[in-house]
Amino acid sequence: MQKYFHSVRLDEDKCKGCTNCVKRCPTEAIRVREGRALIIEERCIDCGECIKICPNRAKLATTDGLEQLQNFHYTIALPAPSLYAQFEPNTSPEQILGALLNIGFDDIFEVALGAEAVSLALRDYLSRDHPRPMISSACPAVLRLMQVRFPGLLQHIVPIETPMEISAGLAREKARQQHGFSDNQIGVFFITPCPAKVTAIKQPFGEKSYVDGAISMSVIYGELLHSLDSPSTKQLPLLSGARGVGWGKAGGENHAIRCHSHLAVDGIHSIINVLEEIERGGLSDIDYLEAQACTGGCIGGPLAPQNLFVARVRMDNLVKKLSLQPDRPKSLSTDPEFLRLNKPILPRPALKLDQDINRAIEMLEEVEKITEDLPGLDCGSCGSPNCRALAEDIVRGYADTSFCIFKLRQRLQILAREIVDLSHKQPPAMGREREKELKEGDA
Ligand code: SF4
Ligand code: SF4
Repeated sequence: MQKYFHSVRLDEDKCKGCTNCVKRCPTEAIRVREGRALIIEERCIDCGECIKICPNRAKLATTDGLEQLQNFHYTIALPAPSLYAQFEPNTSPEQILGALLNIGFDDIFEVALGAEAVSLALRDYLSRDHPRPMISSACPAVLRLMQVRFPGLLQHIVPIETPMEISAGLAREKARQQHGFSDNQIGVFFITPCPAKVTAIKQPFGEKSYVDGAISMSVIYGELLHSLDSPSTKQLPLLSGARGVGWGKAGGENHAIRCHSHLAVDGIHSIINVLEEIERGGLSDIDYLEAQACTGGCIGGPLAPQNLFVARVRMDNLVKKLSLQPDRPKSLSTDPEFLRLNKPILPRPALKLDQDINRAIEMLEEVEKITEDLPGLDCGSCGSPNCRALAEDIVRGYADTSFCIFKLRQRLQILAREIVDLSHKQPPAMGREREKELKEGDA
């Protein structure tokens, strides 16, 4: 089986095997075995739902640290638009950009600028004839979900790179032209609200990633707050407008494209419902589906430090303010070829029971039979998310029927009855003794 990089991982010492994450995972990628969670790596889409739900903080995201900046001559920060909504309302994006410089970056390139370029490209792409609805390529957790659970819908994804990649490519080009640095002297770091972006950098959908690392928003947050208080922190001009910054929250993409019939869905479980509907042939009247795995969009990402509802109000106010500002610089126009995703997104057959179709059918029949025999309570006590998943695990050889506490109790009851029956049986040699006992009893 192919090895995948995953940002999401487990801290075994903190895990208590509570099964909260097992029930929440959208791809049934978690099991609890021997009192600890276990992530089935080919199923995991790095959505971070398990990070959000874990009461013991045992699920973590692997990200890069600020010390990695030392590996490059010239470093560039790529702030995700959602970063601006993490701070107090009186903290402007200009101050946040200045604070990023103050903590060690040599330059900044706003991802919101890349988002503006992508919005223009999307508008153009949607005016042409493609299968409807076209689906946004911006959220890597949604793309991985489709690879694993909805491979038949991959052709609906718009083959346009993400704002993060476009911004990284443009930032590199600028550093090369302005300062003459070679490619490996430049370090580009995305300030990320989610582990899915980390995975998208280490294991890109296109041929390569222009990004060298991802620094967690929640890790860098304290440093930025400290820097905002420092008198040495300057303000940098914000070059992007409401259209680009708005990408940080659900509905922002559609607002930036502004034409065509569109639908914005956020939250991974709602997205699954909508994708199922598209699989059944529905929603062909919709031109564009903006789908973000996190509720609220990237402002609700697992690594965003601020409460989602607070961040949403701040983002709304900022977008309103920016849209009222006249004379904002024009969006970047870029070569359409540079914006294209240069590799098709292929399925990841993680949920197949077997590569051999005949064997897979046999296994499926076995799964159905075992599922019918299980109690159907989906309690999760067996460490699998539901009875059907346990049946699959049994057929795959990863579990046993006795993992189900109801089946175990049933077996114990049968065993107990057998023991009682056996206790009344006597070896033939002792038959007369028994007769004598009975007679004495009668007398
Ligand atoms: S990151 Fe998402 S897909 Fe991966 S184990 Fe956690 S909840 Fe499941
Ligand atoms: S919605 Fe944004 S933060 Fe959440 S997984 Fe997708 S890209 Fe990451």
